[in-house]
Amino acid sequence: MSVLWVLGAGQLGAMLKQAGTPIGIDVRPVDIESTEAIALGPTDIVTAEREEWPETVATKQLATHSNFVNLATFPQLADRLTQKQWLDRLELATAPWFPVEANSTATKAHETLGERVLMKRRRGGYDGKGQYWLKQSEGIEIPEDWKGQAIAEQAINFDEEVSLVGVRGKNGEMHFYPLTLNLHINGILYASISPLERLKPLQSKAEAMLSKLMGALDYVGVMAMECFRVGDHLLINELAPRVHNSGHWTQAGSSVCQFENHVRAVTGLPLAPAEVKNQSMMVNLIGVDLNYDWLNLQSLELYWYKKEVRPGRKVGHLNFCSGNSSVLESALTKLDLPPPYPEALEWLAQNLP
Ligand code: ATP
Ligand code: MG
Ligand code: MG
Repeated sequence: MSVLWVLGAGQLGAMLKQAGTPIGIDVRPVDIESTEAIALGPTDIVTAEREEWPETVATKQLATHSNFVNLATFPQLADRLTQKQWLDRLELATAPWFPVEANSTATKAHETLGERVLMKRRRGGYDGKGQYWLKQSEGIEIPEDWKGQAIAEQAINFDEEVSLVGVRGKNGEMHFYPLTLNLHINGILYASISPLERLKPLQSKAEAMLSKLMGALDYVGVMAMECFRVGDHLLINELAPRVHNSGHWTQAGSSVCQFENHVRAVTGLPLAPAEVKNQSMMVNLIGVDLNYDWLNLQSLELYWYKKEVRPGRKVGHLNFCSGNSSVLESALTKLDLPPPYPEALEWLAQNLP
């Protein structure tokens, strides 16, 4: 049996491996710093848990394999400049933007995009790292080392943030999970909740947007689309050509989770619409220590990534799924987590149907 190799051995790789186990797929995450020879077979398949990677002994071996799914798409989406160009070319709504170039100035940025402009580094940003606010009132200039390296985006006064996780098979078949409502605090995802009845009117619009993208890229596997909801409109914030944190709830809340769907798609196995079970919510564990008392909570599933705990670092997540909303409400009141968690838990409680 062929092996599915994953470029990257973080938590996403681990959860892909976990999802491959029951369906008999041997998923092997590869640490990009590994210097070992990888026993790649000609019929093996390669996927990635991250959209960009440095050239290392490991990544060179994987990226030269002929069955690396979506290989050409990664650099297109990993660079925010080319990602934005794709969105514009496909006429998909996104925050107004321009590339930050050698002659760009803050004055011009404010003229074009307004008082509040968010610069984002073209590459490597995650969890809100690699962002720089230009606020007209503060008179900040564009630092030299951002020129040619970033895009500038209009600040969007969004009502809320939602994401869509979809999967596309080799034959072009596509399936989508219900829209997920997400709470970011300081640029980092703290909590998600799905499905929500009130987001249903936006579902088909969101699916059409992601379908257009995945189709245009002839993409195979799971892709996530992060959006800002402004009234009835969706603006695409960014795309992730991989399994995504805002789809973690599907592990508890769906018959086929995003990780299994990705494994199925890239290995050419059948896809089917996932049955969504009850109400789900997800809480990211960011910079907090493992606490097995959490396991006392009904409806909870713990995922601990076994990473060293550092401030601001994602070290695990909690999934909750129940058909009984009082079970979910009660779990939220019993979670004892430091600031800013009270805000995130309150947000979840308010959004529970
Ligand atoms: P991720 O961990 O999701 O990959 P990232 O570092 O790639 O994060 P973005 O998703 O682009 O960064 O931005 C992080 C968060 O910052 C968004 O979820 C949103 O809350 C806020 N943000 C981003 N762009 C804008 C914008 N144009 N206007 C207002 N807020 C924004
Ligand atoms: Mg990102
Ligand atoms: Mg994001």
